[in-house]
Amino acid sequence: MPVRKIIRMGHPTLRSPAKTVPENSIGSSNIACLIQDMIETLHDYGGIGLAAPQINEPTRIAIIDIPEGASRYGKLQEIPLCVFINPKLTVLGKKVAGYWEGCLSVPGLRGFVERPQHIRVDYLDLKGKPQRKEMTGFTATVIQHEFDHLDGHLYLDHITDPKLLMFEDEYERYILSERPEKTSD
Ligand code: ZN
Repeated sequence: MPVRKIIRMGHPTLRSPAKTVPENSIGSSNIACLIQDMIETLHDYGGIGLAAPQINEPTRIAIIDIPEGASRYGKLQEIPLCVFINPKLTVLGKKVAGYWEGCLSVPGLRGFVERPQHIRVDYLDLKGKPQRKEMTGFTATVIQHEFDHLDGHLYLDHITDPKLLMFEDEYERYILSERPEKTSD
């Protein structure tokens, strides 16, 4: 099960809505292999979340995995590996907060995006069992970023002030050194 290539902004798959996974295919070797490829690819690229369209699989599956300790995004709260199949997102609160997001499909850039901070996610797990989770704060932002990929959206679509889009080097030099808590994916 190989590490897959992550496609980049400009590839049409990143701008197309992904297809619902047929429930009777969850648990099949095809889907299991795809998810395993996604996990290996995420770890190899050093990200904290990945959606299937990013490896050119137009399918409604997303994963997040934030290991304990430091990452290339700085020090983040640990979130164990979680697989979301056919997720549906509901916003539970109007409060928004902004983070500097990056994306493996838009390498080298960071942009400041505000998103709702209290959400509910209904999804199917690896066995096809319905699950429901409430999420707040940074985790809610990561989830919305990943689920956006399933609808053909990128975080860039949410940037309201183009001045808050920059190269990673400049972000680290001029922003991160001032506000180390503002990191995201
Ligand atoms: Zn992304």
